[in-house]
Amino acid sequence: MTSETPSSALQKMLADNQTFAEDLPPDEFDHIQHEQNPYITVLTCCDSRVRIRAFLADEQPSDDVFVIRNIGNQLAATCGSVDFGVRHLHTPLLLILGHTRCGAIKAACSDYRGESLHLVQELNGLHLPVRDIDPNGDPEIEWLRAVERNVHYQCDLAMQRYREKVADGSLAIVGCVYDFANLYQRGIGRIILLNVNGESGPDISRDSPLLAPLSKEMLDLSLVRNPITSASKST
Ligand SMILES: [Zn+2]
Repeated sequence: MTSETPSSALQKMLADNQTFAEDLPPDEFDHIQHEQNPYITVLTCCDSRVRIRAFLADEQPSDDVFVIRNIGNQLAATCGSVDFGVRHLHTPLLLILGHTRCGAIKAACSDYRGESLHLVQELNGLHLPVRDIDPNGDPEIEWLRAVERNVHYQCDLAMQRYREKVADGSLAIVGCVYDFANLYQRGIGRIILLNVNGESGPDISRDSPLLAPLSKEMLDLSLVRNPITSASKST
């Protein structure tokens, strides 16, 4: 929990914005005054540990990513916003990005009936994909598996919604987990690829046209390898 107060948080926010604004070249936003041209629509969790910069090389990206966030990266909770990115801005990539140690997923696996009505409603949207927890399993691995099941579930919903765009080659839907805990043993901060246009896990074809341009090294680093076991986890 933060030690900031409302007053100190406001002061910090405005001071950080002052630094940001003062450091900008005067022409920084000239090219985006009248339109945005993102190439990724990302649906990810609200969790403050998930950094959008994790997949952007630019220090100050201006219009590369159309971002939608809610707890547990749920499509059904925000279809209109995702539609805007996919159907109006025509981003060629829809990234559904879960993350390790997601509190929303953990909450959806527990008894959340005492939460507020609207929080219960949002957690209900996660309960179906994540409920199948093995009580005798390693808690960390079961948690990660629930995160993965939710990513696959959200990808399935997205495939149903945007199937025609995937079929005509104008959109790829990828499901990933942002790993800041090194549970996949690829290093902290790595984005692990779980689902590609509805293909999941070991069934993902490395020879598909979508992945063909990627190097073997990149695929080895990014593609999920099942199963992750408690023996292989490391934090
Ligand atoms: Zn989360």
